[in-house]
Amino acid sequence: MSIAKNIKVVQNRVALACEKARRDLNEIQLIAVSKTVELDQIQEAIDAGLTNFGESRVQDAWRKYQALGNKVHWHMIGHLQTNKAKRALQFSDYLHSVDSTRLADELQIQAEKQKKTLNIFVQVNTSGEDTKFGFAPQETLDSVQKISEYGNLNIKGLMTIGAYSADEQKVRQCFKQLRELQLRLNERIANLELTELSMGMTNDFEIAIEEGATMIRVGRLIFGERKY
Ligand SMILES: *Cc1c(COP(=O)(O)O)cnc(C)c1O
Repeated sequence: MSIAKNIKVVQNRVALACEKARRDLNEIQLIAVSKTVELDQIQEAIDAGLTNFGESRVQDAWRKYQALGNKVHWHMIGHLQTNKAKRALQFSDYLHSVDSTRLADELQIQAEKQKKTLNIFVQVNTSGEDTKFGFAPQETLDSVQKISEYGNLNIKGLMTIGAYSADEQKVRQCFKQLRELQLRLNERIANLELTELSMGMTNDFEIAIEEGATMIRVGRLIFGERKY
């Protein structure tokens, strides 16, 4: 199938999930995860109307940014090494993967130097899988409290990756937990308003929408299986 058709499929499924969850379609932003995908395919997705793209490696993203520029929004979604913070800040609109206070420290320093404000998501490891990055749920309050004081980082919300499991309940539990954390942090931290939940991928975005996702990150369903 063509990329345009795949995008239609995703959009229809998003609409159905919204109907089921009695949510407004406009609350959900689709981020097309274009890691490993080449420029011509990204251009096809742009032609089909998409404006938000997610990348996991700074070097690849930078190259694509130089070709395509600011006509779309660039979201960094993968684990970021601190020595890449400076580059990431030069082109990304959103960083979904703030997974340590050390990274937040470096981002703040670089953002201040570049006189920028970066939109960030704090990544939470809701599944507890040790292959996954992110703050443990119980350390999130203290960490977000600290990061919320950084002048050049604008915390939009929380991000998680659902459990790697065929058990739908396990996956759903991850998303539920992220939503509960969002509510708790908004209650407990003065002057903080987390409005976004970045959760849901090809295999589980409908569940994520039912549990309150506002940004879903979909790769394979749009661009096909990845070739590394
Ligand atoms: C690769 C990736 C995605 C997209 O996954 P698909 O299964 O291709 O939809 C979403 N989020 C993150 C953090 C990723 O690394």
